[in-house]
Amino acid sequence: MEKLIDAYERKIDYLRISVTDRCNLRCVYCMPPEGIELIESKDILRYEEFLRIVRIAADHGVTKVRVTGGEPLVRKGIIEFLAELASIKGIDDLSLTTNGVLLKEYAQRLKEAGLRRVNVSLDSLKRDRFLKMTRGDNLQQVLDGLEEAERVGLTPVKINMVVIKGFNDDEVLEFAMMSKVKPYHVRYIEYMPFNTQEGWQRDKCITARELKEMIEKVEPLFPVTDASGGAGTARRYRFKDAPGEVGFISPVSEHFCGSCNRLRLTSDGKLRTCLFSDNEIDIRKALRDGSSDDAVEALLFRAVKEKPQGHQINENIFKKCSRTMSLIGG
Ligand code: SAM
Ligand code: SF4
Repeated sequence: MEKLIDAYERKIDYLRISVTDRCNLRCVYCMPPEGIELIESKDILRYEEFLRIVRIAADHGVTKVRVTGGEPLVRKGIIEFLAELASIKGIDDLSLTTNGVLLKEYAQRLKEAGLRRVNVSLDSLKRDRFLKMTRGDNLQQVLDGLEEAERVGLTPVKINMVVIKGFNDDEVLEFAMMSKVKPYHVRYIEYMPFNTQEGWQRDKCITARELKEMIEKVEPLFPVTDASGGAGTARRYRFKDAPGEVGFISPVSEHFCGSCNRLRLTSDGKLRTCLFSDNEIDIRKALRDGSSDDAVEALLFRAVKEKPQGHQINENIFKKCSRTMSLIGG
């Protein structure tokens, strides 16, 4: 079967699916306090519609699927959906991004459904600040969720920290130190410009290079080159003899567009060719008007063909995405 290869010879084998725009938190960099205007339920894809797309994508070389949101664990039936996804021939890496609030409750069932691993978003280890950043008083639940994910073997457990200057940058070191006592992969993500009330400013974004320097002032890091953490966008390091790792994801300062292998599917059935491009291809219509699999497949190939070479958010000409991350699916 013909593979999904774009105009710049990048092989597209990774699909990120946002299964819902709903969320049980309201992170300041992602949503306004009152939440976003929700997509009408009828416009959100049904699980069988997502599955149809994934089956077609898998026939053309997609092997990795990440389920995200909104908060994926708030959507009813998520476990059964993940089990169906895991059983699709060709999908050999199924993962989930979650805010961790419901993780303790779900971890065992996620593992049993065939999920390989989880990425948990966590930006502060201080209760007050966690509350300020997420507008939810759920820090302990997230920490319990991390423990449970490790216990049931959803590993490596990755922790994603979005670092915002003047907000949580004083905790960078403390997060890194978690990797010395736990097998967690702590990953720092540069703060990205999306359409939120909070207002993105270039100087609130601390670059991966600066973050690494901050940590190495205290203790040296050694590059990790093995495949255990899976191929990905993070530059990976480890403290000497540490069970865990630290990684840096730098979409703003040093983008990884040249090796980008992904397509995104929003909960309302739009294929997005790049996180920072508002070019969307409507696949829902084809799913609902009786179109054949060939027609759906043609839309996937079209999206791949239209994938831009790169984004320019680090240059002066950056523009914010018209959707927030919760709508696109981070
Ligand atoms: N609700 C889940 C969660 O928070 O993990 C999944 C969806 S969330 C949109 C996915 C990721 O996007 C999270 O790790 C979040 O921190 C990240 N994110 C949201 N807005 C961001 C921004 N402006 N800059 C960087 N990362 C952002
Ligand atoms: Fe919800 Fe995740 Fe956005 Fe936070 S980052 S508001 S948890 S979707």
